[in-house]
Amino acid sequence: RLYNEVIELKGNIRVFCRCRPLNLAEITNGSSSVVEFDSSQENELQIVSSDSSKKQFKFDFVFKPEDNQEAVFAQTKPIVTSVLDGYNVCIFAYGQTGTGKTFTMEGTPENRGVNYRTLEELFHISKDRTGVMRYELFVSMLEVYNEKIRDLLVENSNQPSKKLEIKHAAEGTQEVPGLTEARVYTTEEVWELLKSGAKARSVGSTNANELSSRSHCLLRVTVKGENLINGHKTKSHLWLVDLAGSERVGKIEVEGERLKESQFINKSLSALGDVISALASKSGHVPYRFGPPQFGSWQVLRLIPLTELLGGDCKTLMFVQISPNSGDLGETLCSLNFASRVR
Ligand code: ADP
Ligand code: MG
Repeated sequence: RLYNEVIELKGNIRVFCRCRPLNLAEITNGSSSVVEFDSSQENELQIVSSDSSKKQFKFDFVFKPEDNQEAVFAQTKPIVTSVLDGYNVCIFAYGQTGTGKTFTMEGTPENRGVNYRTLEELFHISKDRTGVMRYELFVSMLEVYNEKIRDLLVENSNQPSKKLEIKHAAEGTQEVPGLTEARVYTTEEVWELLKSGAKARSVGSTNANELSSRSHCLLRVTVKGENLINGHKTKSHLWLVDLAGSERVGKIEVEGERLKESQFINKSLSALGDVISALASKSGHVPYRFGPPQFGSWQVLRLIPLTELLGGDCKTLMFVQISPNSGDLGETLCSLNFASRVR
């Protein structure tokens, strides 16, 4: 029975790899790409090391630098929209800072990402199902920095936001009392909300990019559905997570605050990896390694209902984001190895 359960769970975990293009500075420096793609295989890539040795990686899908947001969303759509059928869904963007995690999830006004496209699609499908299903959509946005959780949708984000805490609710799920849940009706409204949330993310930081690389940003979409024919009601969550940068910070370079931060990040990311890889493994052994409460970020990853994940009805997708630049080779291999553990 356990064996079957694990197989079933494995079917719910996908890993997509996305490689960003070389940027202008890298091209100007004469940098070259260390990533090779096979035109006939859309799920493989090879990393070419400085000694010309090659290492191959396989994922569920590999996006090349020229693949645009539409192409990425086309593959992601079936997973995110299953939230309308009552599935819980978690999507994570993992990788070194500067590899496109925020570009994939949030995107830019001209190149909107998975977050916006998902909500647009949810509205679209719910309209198509008018008369059969009635849906209500709610959006929450929070940021996790060290052990602190910030509500990114509070009215005036310049004010210090109220302190949020995780409460353990019935059946092993977690709730955050007081977290803003904004009911959304239109895509325009969603775009404004996502923009204000993203803006709130950088408040209080002297260098916005710096802080965003060291915090996790979580968008939660709550879907309440009612089947108008049989009266059956469902409530499900879709988590869209832009994780903190996965790069290892050298111990010698950092001390104090910076060191504490990187320890929080490492702890939460490796805990995430453990849970996902245990789910994906054939061993049938899932270590419920819930860390002690002082591990802030890890505690917050419990927010993403890991119990629901483990329950097998949660669909999980991880985007492993990589840079093609030879100077990033070490981090790229770390990220790809991490993601391979999961698959
Ligand atoms: P991260 O969130 O991982 O730190 P960003 O999303 O901020 O990285 O991306 C770094 C820079 O690279 C941004 O200027 C972003 O617009 C650009 N970028 C990332 N991925 C792509 C891509 N696939 N195509 C074009 N530009 C990209
Ligand atoms: Mg980012």
